[in-house]
Amino acid sequence: MSDNIVYTLPTISTSPARPQKPPVDEKSLVHKQFLRGPFWQRIPAYADVPEATFLDHKWQSKNTITNVQKLMATLQGLVSPEFVADAEMGFKRAPMSVRVSPYLLSLINWDDPYRDPLRRQFITLGSRLLPDHPKLGLDSLGEQADSPVPGLTHRYVDKALFLPLDTCPVYCRFCTRSYAVGVDTDEVEKVQLHVNEERWKQAFAYIESRPELEDIVISGGDAYNLRPGQLTQIGHAVLDIPHVRRMRFATKGPAVMPQKILSDDAWVDALTEVVERGRKIHKEVVLHTHFNHPNEITGITEDAMNRLMERGIVVRNQSVLQRGVNDDVDTMKLLVKRLGHLNIHPYYVYMHDLVKGVEDLRTTLQTAIDLEKHIRGSTAGFNTPTFVCDAPGGGGKRDVHSYEYYDRVTGISVFMAPSVKPGRYFLYFDPIDALPRRGRDLWANPAEHQKMIDKALDRARAKRR
Ligand SMILES: *Cc1c(COP(=O)(O)O)cnc(C)c1O
Ligand code: SF4
Repeated sequence: MSDNIVYTLPTISTSPARPQKPPVDEKSLVHKQFLRGPFWQRIPAYADVPEATFLDHKWQSKNTITNVQKLMATLQGLVSPEFVADAEMGFKRAPMSVRVSPYLLSLINWDDPYRDPLRRQFITLGSRLLPDHPKLGLDSLGEQADSPVPGLTHRYVDKALFLPLDTCPVYCRFCTRSYAVGVDTDEVEKVQLHVNEERWKQAFAYIESRPELEDIVISGGDAYNLRPGQLTQIGHAVLDIPHVRRMRFATKGPAVMPQKILSDDAWVDALTEVVERGRKIHKEVVLHTHFNHPNEITGITEDAMNRLMERGIVVRNQSVLQRGVNDDVDTMKLLVKRLGHLNIHPYYVYMHDLVKGVEDLRTTLQTAIDLEKHIRGSTAGFNTPTFVCDAPGGGGKRDVHSYEYYDRVTGISVFMAPSVKPGRYFLYFDPIDALPRRGRDLWANPAEHQKMIDKALDRARAKRR
């Protein structure tokens, strides 16, 4: 990054003075400072909402915004008519339906909505859309190809992903599962993965029939939207399978509606019961959540996470690397430190999947590599996320540094996954608009596409000879 590279060699000090780190002003430790107070009252529609109401998850759910007209009505007086028109155009062309909680809406800086990192994740703007990469597909991870039972993906040797439902407390633009999650949109007709006990039973039977499966991820959709009884039912069914050793419930909930953890006692009790039942039979049950930006973490989050800590529930985080959201060192560092402060382990940072309609949110593999270099060493190693690329086509997650070949001009990287799909090569593509001129010109010419790919594969193969 910097040209002033200084080489330091170890020296033996002869002076009696002990080395001192420069003093640090406590006020500069912003990762420990959480937004508190009635921040939501800045939104005209919530100006009269008292704290007790805002902290009630039922109020949050009931007031969650599920269509563009309602969104615009809520933002009345806050945004310009141009912004309204831009968002309307955006949602018309987006593969995801709109679903935004009042909590999230209140955390967006409406004085500068174009640049706000939370707005970018949830509200599509027509003017910011870029053409999709020519190599992009809707189920980019090939989850359906590795799916022996609807809603169950068995890709890795000893772990499986179970999607019991297809709804979420919010809908994220960047969702990998936009092939299934949310209602049909103008652009996409979805695979159906509704709550269906018959389908669940098939999934449990499959897990039971495969003694190698030790680790079950319950995702979705979102475990937040499971009723307490459903959470218990799934938790028990999976824990009762003798060879299962670990399970995780994945939910974006804490990042978008932490209120539920504070006020939905039945849900938290159900989760606690499953965690404790697991602990008694020496099986690990944890919560995986999904914070992407430090602004998503407030005093309400702190209270919610403290409650889970008191219950002895381990929480890990998976972020998605997104352009203009968390692709700079300061933001990623603050996110990681803030998560660590709340005892949430930053587990992964994912390269954005190659999904439709979000080219403006993707970044280059190089960005992830650079970020990792800055993050590692800034806090505890176990609070340092691994930066991964979930290889399109079903290779699974690969460390971004482990590419066989990476062409920074064409933006093509080549990965292998010997323990998942031996002998195969997997390609990731940087967003075209972030490439150097020459790369953009090459992609502008369809006759060059296969040549670029063949060259990258040849180089990758050459490396293995
Ligand atoms: C991510 C994922 C898992 C879990 O992988 P970890 O690296 O253990 O977090 C399991 N199955 C599928 C299909 C996945 O995408
Ligand atoms: S909460 Fe998760 S599954 Fe649901 S839309 Fe967002 S990224 Fe997709």
